[in-house]
Amino acid sequence: MSRWFGLGFGLWLWLPSLVWAQAIGGYAAGCQLDARALPASGPGFYVIRRARERFYGQPSLIDYLQRLGRGARQAGLPPMLIADIAMERGGPFSSGHRSHQTGLDADIWLRPPPDDPSPSRLQRIRAIDMVDHRYYILNAHFRDPQRQLIALAAQDESVSRVFVHPLIKNAMCKAYGDAPWLGKLRPWFGHSSHFHVRLHCPKGDTLCEPQAQVPAGTGCGRELASWLNDKAGAISAGPRTPFRPRLPKQCIGRVR
Ligand SMILES: [Zn+2]
Repeated sequence: MSRWFGLGFGLWLWLPSLVWAQAIGGYAAGCQLDARALPASGPGFYVIRRARERFYGQPSLIDYLQRLGRGARQAGLPPMLIADIAMERGGPFSSGHRSHQTGLDADIWLRPPPDDPSPSRLQRIRAIDMVDHRYYILNAHFRDPQRQLIALAAQDESVSRVFVHPLIKNAMCKAYGDAPWLGKLRPWFGHSSHFHVRLHCPKGDTLCEPQAQVPAGTGCGRELASWLNDKAGAISAGPRTPFRPRLPKQCIGRVR
């Protein structure tokens, strides 16, 4: 009897470390438990600006990014540069975007890696804008490798949305016609040097708040046209002030 009790107690101590990873709350008002760190590099990827310590995510996202890196390598694409994921405990960043709070969002830069991807170089690296904002067109930096990487990223079943600049969505619509995953590409200003991948809530994370399903269809028609015509929005999409949302009670005291 006591032996069984001992075994049970041992399991009870051990199991939470396996099953406790959790995304809590919404993408822009939440936190995460038991996040995993994405290694500094791996097949098909490098993590940039590691000093910011925003390379933590839920296991589903870390697995996804490693899978995407392998896929990119198999497709003969250059290694991708992964920027912000989330802080170890999630929660709002002190600067930058509002989401990335639950370990289910990641930014991937559109520029190829530098010739010398040493840690110090990757720490200081600069983004390359794919949009010529004066004429409001894509510039020569946006080419087939960028298109292929975005397509690979969006096709994965665990992906809910991929945010891209409206001009990039337009280019993807032209290149991929009526591919069903085009509907996951959501036009959003400010995403002209990187794209932003958002995963679905992991199964069983009952405190994770999912976002509404994306509308049916490719989103390449009238919806996109309204974004392309909104030049005022394009101009006002600048740096934002720090964002302090109301967090779920499970996050209070856990995040800065
Ligand atoms: Zn982002």
